[in-house]
Amino acid sequence: MKFQDEYRDPRTADKLRHALADVATRPWTIMEVCGGQTHTIVRYGIDELLPPGIELVHGPGCPVCVTPIELIDQAIAIASQPNVIFCSFGDMLRVPGSTRDLLAVKAAGGDVRIVYSPLDCLRIADQNPRHDVVFFAVGFETTAPANAMAVWQAKRRGLTNFSVLVSHVLVPPAMAAMLSSPSNRVQGVLAAGHVCTVMGYDEYLPLSEQFQIPIVVTGFEPLDLLEGIYRCVRMLEAGRVGVENQYARVVRRAGNPEAIQLVREVFQVCDRKWRGIGTIAQSGLELSPEYEQFDAQRRFTVDGIEVAESNLCISGLILQGLKKPHECPAFGGLCTPEHPLGATMVSSEGACAAYFHYARFRPAPTLPSPSKNSVELTDVSPQSQASHGRNG
Ligand code: SF4
Repeated sequence: MKFQDEYRDPRTADKLRHALADVATRPWTIMEVCGGQTHTIVRYGIDELLPPGIELVHGPGCPVCVTPIELIDQAIAIASQPNVIFCSFGDMLRVPGSTRDLLAVKAAGGDVRIVYSPLDCLRIADQNPRHDVVFFAVGFETTAPANAMAVWQAKRRGLTNFSVLVSHVLVPPAMAAMLSSPSNRVQGVLAAGHVCTVMGYDEYLPLSEQFQIPIVVTGFEPLDLLEGIYRCVRMLEAGRVGVENQYARVVRRAGNPEAIQLVREVFQVCDRKWRGIGTIAQSGLELSPEYEQFDAQRRFTVDGIEVAESNLCISGLILQGLKKPHECPAFGGLCTPEHPLGATMVSSEGACAAYFHYARFRPAPTLPSPSKNSVELTDVSPQSQASHGRNG
């Protein structure tokens, strides 16, 4: 394992940028699937380093962003009940439901707690036998193993006051739905390294074949992304389909077999609604029959909540790579991280939040040709801007 700054080295970035300019002969549209990748790309200005015509569009890989508003309302309904301790990772607390968020429930006296692991909830359940402890199990394949482990342990320990409100989603079915859409313009994909760390990348091979596209698994550092883009463009130019693994220092082809086995024991595949996109067949996980006693939706009967999305928010189009955040009329005005209208602005992985934090003061979009001058991978996070006296 190298040190982090080696993945941010400007000289290597410059070499990759020139290699990319040498290999790219025509326009290509590439989607980075994960919000973590989006944040690195916008934060370090990688999209501004690319040759003319190489466009990056942002995918649906932000679990907070795609959690349906109905499920947020269900979480709020459960958390508002007496004798409930509602536990969640911190990023779900400010995601707007139809009328309020979980933070408002906490402010009104509800016992809403931020945890750093679902296993913390088992300890809380042990310590509070007269309370129902509910964990908001949101995420892609990345978080599914830890959530599965919490449920598995709860069963082994005979815990009766613990349950999970599940909103797990799966990357490959969402990719298949997007790539088969008539409006699809994605020609290559950067797959998310952390998802593949768990699941491996065998399941991306049929997708690559079916849609005749290259897929490159990447990490989340600036050079990971630049190398991933370079490899993807190289495959596109050569007319090659298949899967390449840029993140080989972490990702194995078979993933983590023990984690996969645990997920398959505790969960089963189901249809799942994606916020702003709609229902995608076989794109989610729900508790399997052997573990359904831990299903908060059964325990609290909060099914059936139906709400409409905001008319203004175009996050569904952004999550499908069809629009960019600055094309939303509410971006930066009616919708800011302090007053978000949609989940892509509130989530720390959301594309709208990335553009707001790192790119809202950019000049009109330009795609400069690589120069002979060396490139800087400039961190344009607010902290960095303050220390450099820059404004955005
Ligand atoms: S800027 Fe706000 S309203 Fe517009 S798409 Fe993003 S989250 Fe939705």
